[in-house]
Amino acid sequence: MYDTIIIGSGPAGLAAAIYAKRAVLNSLVIEQAPASGGQMLNTYEVDNYPGLPGINGFDLGDAMREHADKLGAEFAEDTVTELQVEGPVKKVIGRKQTYETRTIVLASGAEHRKLLVPGEEALTGRGVSYCATCDGAFFKDKEVAVIGGGDVALEDAILLAKSSRKVTVIHRRDAFRGARILQERLSACPNVEILWNTVAEEILGTQKAEGLRLRQVQTGEQKELPVDGVFIAVGIQPNSELARGKLRQDKGGYICAGEDTKTSVAGVFAAGDVRTKEFRQILTAAADGAAAVAAVENYLNTWNVSEI
Ligand code: NAP
Repeated sequence: MYDTIIIGSGPAGLAAAIYAKRAVLNSLVIEQAPASGGQMLNTYEVDNYPGLPGINGFDLGDAMREHADKLGAEFAEDTVTELQVEGPVKKVIGRKQTYETRTIVLASGAEHRKLLVPGEEALTGRGVSYCATCDGAFFKDKEVAVIGGGDVALEDAILLAKSSRKVTVIHRRDAFRGARILQERLSACPNVEILWNTVAEEILGTQKAEGLRLRQVQTGEQKELPVDGVFIAVGIQPNSELARGKLRQDKGGYICAGEDTKTSVAGVFAAGDVRTKEFRQILTAAADGAAAVAAVENYLNTWNVSEI
């Protein structure tokens, strides 16, 4: 019987693992992927994590994992398929095993959103990608498009501009939502063109991506843009399937929880990108992991469930 089971090993899960060990809780982190770090693994450069300017996302994930390991955190690689959250003893049902615990910290993060246009599914992995850090190198000296206007789209475009011949950024509005500093860096890239007020309606190609069918939203004008690669960066959606019907969620599927990470069920906490929050950053996810463990300790003390 664990005091707490942390589901997920992104910055929220790893911070929770560190804080749980320091609180001398009997804790387990369940991670699905063989590598820890969550979305950080797909980030080429993290330029806003205090004290570590410009660190590679993979290295930051690795460092957090190493920190947790050093403190003796226990990790299991398993896919959680169901949570039984009612009562003082909760069950985390995995493909390999069922785990019993007094509390759960759900830190399952978020994943990329799909564009949902013809050609996207069929050509994923064949010129269509959601991860410039992972796949950018395949497009050295080629022409690529990045779809989206948030931090990820801007970071992807800047990264791709270093090796690709030309990068076309396609954004549905006339202003980016991504950070100002990224916009400035992007405008300094000589091989980047921005198509404002433009949407991609189809990804063209049979064996591999060959281009995009675009529509200018104000004029309705359509055109084809030949490209070798299409990077889709249109936001994220929470990995919150496990919560469905068990924990309160908002319209977007995010688990309803405040800064204290408390969900609608006592003893279950949500930390990081999976919970309702304004500002999703590595830093705020890590902060959630710390807050979740404080809430776990409080719950265990208040309800004296450690005796169960
Ligand atoms: P995001 O900030 O939600 O931006 C998504 C972008 O995709 C928006 O520009 C949006 O357009 C566009 N979009 C959404 N649906 C679309 C569709 N169907 N067709 C065309 N365009 C569409 O998502 P993100 O860039 O993936 O970032 C996710 C979160 O991680 C954000 O909170 C971000 O701040 C954070 N993040 C932080 C850092 C950092 O601190 N260094 C790095 C990466 C990510 P509109 O603008 O018109 O809505």
